[in-house]
Amino acid sequence: MSKALLYDATLCIGCKQCEQACAEQNKLPYDDKIAAEEVQSVHKFTVVMAKEDKFMRRLCMNCEDPACASVCPVGALHKTKLGPVAYDAWKCMGCRYCMVACPFGVPKYEWNNNLTPKVQKCIMCTERVNAGRMTACSEACPTGATKFGDRDDLLEEAHKRLRENPKGYVNRIYGEKEVGGTAVLLISAMPFEAFGYRTDLVHDPLPLYTYRVLSRIPDFLPLAGALLGGTWWITHRRDEVAAAEGKDKNTGHASGGEQ
Ligand code: SF4
Ligand code: SF4
Ligand code: SF4
Repeated sequence: MSKALLYDATLCIGCKQCEQACAEQNKLPYDDKIAAEEVQSVHKFTVVMAKEDKFMRRLCMNCEDPACASVCPVGALHKTKLGPVAYDAWKCMGCRYCMVACPFGVPKYEWNNNLTPKVQKCIMCTERVNAGRMTACSEACPTGATKFGDRDDLLEEAHKRLRENPKGYVNRIYGEKEVGGTAVLLISAMPFEAFGYRTDLVHDPLPLYTYRVLSRIPDFLPLAGALLGGTWWITHRRDEVAAAEGKDKNTGHASGGEQ
C-alpha cells in the first residue's frame, strides 16, 4: 500500500523540528540563518512558513503520477511503489526538464557545484520508507502535525477531521486530487493560496496532458533529440546560463521570489 504524509496545519506549532530532522537525514547544514529561510533550496528540502499565528509546510508533494519523472529523459526521477518519488543522481544529465515540469516549483539545481551538479528535492526519505520506517520529519514532529502512514488511511482521517470540525478547516484536502493526487496531504484553517499553493491545478495527472500534446505532434521525437542536444550544451555552460537567468552565484538561489 502506498505511503503518505498528512500535515495538519492546525496542529503545527512552528517549532521547525521537521526542518532540522530533514537536514540531518539528508546531511545538510542547519543553523539559525537557514531556519529563518522560508524558501525551498538545494540546502533546504522542506520549509515551515508562518503567517500571523498560522503555519504551513512546503516540501516535494511526491505526486502519485509525477510530471518531473515523466519528462526526465534518462529516468533519474521515478515514483516508487511505496510512494516516494526517488532520484538517482548518477543518471541525471542536468537538463532541468523536471524543474520546468513540476507544477509546485520543487526541484532545485546546484548552480554552485561545478563538478557534479545535481537536482535536489525531498525524496520522502526513500531509504527509510523502504526499510519500513517513517520519514524523519514525521518522527521528529512533537505534535503529530506531520503524520506518516498509508495514504488511504490518512485520507480517511483527514476527511474525518474536516467532517467533525468543519469550522476549523478550509473544506479541502490539498493533494487528494491535485494533478492526480499526491503523497503529501495538507489540511489547514487558512486558505492554501495564502501560503502560495496553487489552487487552479487540474485533477488529471499532468503526464496525461504531456502525452495528449505529444501524441498530436508527429515530429516531436526528432525535435526532442535536437532539444536534448542543445540542453546538454547549455548545461555545460551553466555559469553563463545562471547569469542570464538572474541566479545569485554565491547562494545558488534565484535572485527573485520563489514558487
Ligand atoms: S512535486 Fe514536483 S518534484 Fe515533487 S514529485 Fe511532484 S512533480 Fe515531482
Ligand atoms: S520526507 Fe524526508 S526528505 Fe522529505 S521533508 Fe520529510 S524528512 Fe525531509
Ligand atoms: S515539527 Fe511538527 S509542529 Fe514542528 S514545525 Fe514541523 S510540522 Fe510543525
